[in-house]
Amino acid sequence: MKRVLVTDALQAVGVDALRKHGLEVDVAAALDERALTDRLGEYEGLIVRSATKVSRAAIAAATRLEVIGRAGAGVDTIDVEAATERGIIVMNTPGGNTTAVAEHTLALLLALARRVTVADATLKAGRWEKNRLQGVELLGKTLGILGLGRIGAEVARRALGFRMQVIAYDPYLTREAAERLGVSSVELDELLARSDFITIHTPLTGDTRHLIGEAELARMKPGVRLINCARGGIIDEEALARGLASGHVGGAGIDVFEQEPPPADHPLLRFEQVVLTPHLGAATDEAQSAVALAIAAVVAICALLGVSGWMAWQHHNVVQERQRAAAYTATARQGVINLTSLDFNKAKEGVQRVLDSATGEFKDDFQRRAEDFESVVKDSKAVTEGSVAATAVESMNNDSAVVLVLANERITNIAGAKDQPRTFRFRVSVVHDGDQLKLSKVEFVL
Ligand code: NAD
Repeated sequence: MKRVLVTDALQAVGVDALRKHGLEVDVAAALDERALTDRLGEYEGLIVRSATKVSRAAIAAATRLEVIGRAGAGVDTIDVEAATERGIIVMNTPGGNTTAVAEHTLALLLALARRVTVADATLKAGRWEKNRLQGVELLGKTLGILGLGRIGAEVARRALGFRMQVIAYDPYLTREAAERLGVSSVELDELLARSDFITIHTPLTGDTRHLIGEAELARMKPGVRLINCARGGIIDEEALARGLASGHVGGAGIDVFEQEPPPADHPLLRFEQVVLTPHLGAATDEAQSAVALAIAAVVAICALLGVSGWMAWQHHNVVQERQRAAAYTATARQGVINLTSLDFNKAKEGVQRVLDSATGEFKDDFQRRAEDFESVVKDSKAVTEGSVAATAVESMNNDSAVVLVLANERITNIAGAKDQPRTFRFRVSVVHDGDQLKLSKVEFVL
């Protein structure tokens, strides 16, 4: 039986899920490098959150290790290069905490606009500073989003709800994809010059380290307010402190730091107009259960179903392949959501959505089944709602990919099946059809 070591207080639902998959699981608190190195030789799988760092030395001692799972988005606490050299798969759970981080970003945005934290601190210190603490409204202000990925897009949706103007810079995203969200895609210089608030949602890579430094801050509007809920190091913290001290930067909301926790003399700790949180972006009950379940699913897929190390290679070990893998994965996810989400009263619409995203063999096959399906279900009130728990690229070449998708389907409004979630695994083939990606085959995987 394969063994998995789970550290960092992963939520119990994840541990239970691993056991249900038939894996033997040991649970430990956060481990330092020495303790991890001593124990890792006995396990095929390791799951960490953020406290346990997986170093080259620990990986060298892990003679049986096949997969490292990170319950969260970034894999910067794991030495991916060392893992790659040893053929160990590194998996993460992007997406599980998207809502949590997007909501935290909005919390910081509102706290900055209305000076909530200063008001709270001064009032508790016995001061009623109503006049000094006047804020600004979000309505009509321009929000610049750096990185319009999963989290950036959710922040955009919420900011549009506050009727802000939303602009974004993301060199890997098409203008049309941004426009579909109601966001204008602009170059970095224009974003810096136009934004009243700027929020960062890029990964930390060689390209994004100090993406916001002295020169970029100088190009921003006087009084600009910045938010970083992505990774420490994307903003040059020293430069930001100088911008705040000069008054050019009006405020900052910072959840992540180059060094965590920041040292007591960290320059950002002394500003009243800075709102700081200790890396709380993903710290919600819902996000922690979601990432625990998602990482359990992918680690179990890797350890038990023998999905090749190739797919993780696609996801994390080859940066330039990641964007392409992400596009295939997004199409596969959406296709599976369309397939597993149907309002049976509107069955025609749902079926049409699936047909629109399908091509070739799968389109013909689904078309045939759709006709029977509609006549059977037309009077049913049942609604199924699909959501995707995990995806992994199984194989990929220049014009197609095979993606494994783990989807949950929840049925409501049907006697005897109320609110019962079911989980399915799909193997989805995605191909280019002209310049669009489409589903060409969808199979259930047992
Ligand atoms: P994602 O991969 O969906 O989105 C990242 C986006 O950044 C992509 O659209 C990509 O094209 C874009 N990008 C890459 N390089 C860029 C560049 N140089 N300039 C502009 N855009 C660029 O990732 P996500 O799930 O939205 O996560 C975004 C960030 O949030 C990650 O850094 C992640 O580590 C961080 N995060 C933080 C917390 C927290 O607790 N605060 C939790 C989860 C994720």
